[in-house]
Amino acid sequence: MIGKSPASQPQTLHQVYIAGMGEKRFDISIRDGRFASITEADPRRPAEPDQAAREIWISPGVIDLHTHLAWTDFDHADQLKRDPHEVEVMQARAFEATLRTGVTTARDAGGIRPGTVRHIVEHYGQPLRVQTCSDMLGAADARGVQHLGRRLSEIYETGAGWVKIMATGGLGTPAEQVLDPNFSEAEFRFIVRHAHEHHKKVMVHTWGGVTVDWSIAAGVESIEHGMFLTADQAGRLAEAVGAFVPTASIYRIAADPHGVLGLPPVIRDRAARAAEAHPKALAYAMCAGVRIGFGTDYATPALHGHNLQELDVLKDYGLSWADAWRAATGTAAEILGSGGELGKIAEGYVADAILFDADPYRAQTAAELQKSIVSVMVGAG
Ligand SMILES: [Zn+2]
Repeated sequence: MIGKSPASQPQTLHQVYIAGMGEKRFDISIRDGRFASITEADPRRPAEPDQAAREIWISPGVIDLHTHLAWTDFDHADQLKRDPHEVEVMQARAFEATLRTGVTTARDAGGIRPGTVRHIVEHYGQPLRVQTCSDMLGAADARGVQHLGRRLSEIYETGAGWVKIMATGGLGTPAEQVLDPNFSEAEFRFIVRHAHEHHKKVMVHTWGGVTVDWSIAAGVESIEHGMFLTADQAGRLAEAVGAFVPTASIYRIAADPHGVLGLPPVIRDRAARAAEAHPKALAYAMCAGVRIGFGTDYATPALHGHNLQELDVLKDYGLSWADAWRAATGTAAEILGSGGELGKIAEGYVADAILFDADPYRAQTAAELQKSIVSVMVGAG
């Protein structure tokens, strides 16, 4: 049974299990969109009539650290052919699908502006919490620091909290060039310093190579994709308390000739190469103790709402199910700098949560997890 309205907020939950906290049941009250009190339930008291038939588990809402909610097509040129209203309706559907799967907070990795988020939340009643970077800085912006300063000011004016640097190419780049930096080191350092001086956080798209070293040295908040991360870099990244958001599942989907993206063979080959490298990068990161965050890079209607699939791939690549789950909740909240109010079922925390009719820590697959979702709640804050 899948979710009711994400906005439906029971005021008190009786005798629920908190996912990952064992066999005890709790009574949880919610006030003003936050968990007001969490007390161990009296085991002698009978369960509420509506809960008598089933047991309920609560977990924090999932945090997807890498989505593209504004994009409607794999190729941006296809989006430009669409009517603007159609695009807006599709974006609202992306919010809806993302919420329904249990994602209550998303960090958009490029394409959506805070004004659009507000409009969709209010006008379409889809209360997804979204942190944004508005536009991305890429190869076309490698025109010196003056130009970059202007671009950064434009981004700050939109109200974005993050700056996204496309430090290397991606699926559109031939394999032998994909680790080449898009910016000079001086430009890269300028962007990160400028962003931090303006209290913005920095996320860096990099497949690997020297831009990972620059990211670590500059103290960026997170490295995205990073499939060619080395053991040495993982060690330094852990020391610098940087985060790694591998977005692992999308490369498998992109490599699949029968996958929903239906990409041409040359792109599929590049994706396959990325997917082949990812398990090693994750092994280095785990071994070094790097903070690993859950992010999907999902960007089209066929993918929004399937975000939990990333858990399957993280598990395939060596994370325990509990670690993958933490990457999607508590650790993701820390990476956002919101570890004090998101990603945990605790008093004072924002009441973003998923209710399940089976223990989510015992699920074997994302599909099983998805099926056990009873409802999704979004708190306030
Ligand atoms: Zn992305």
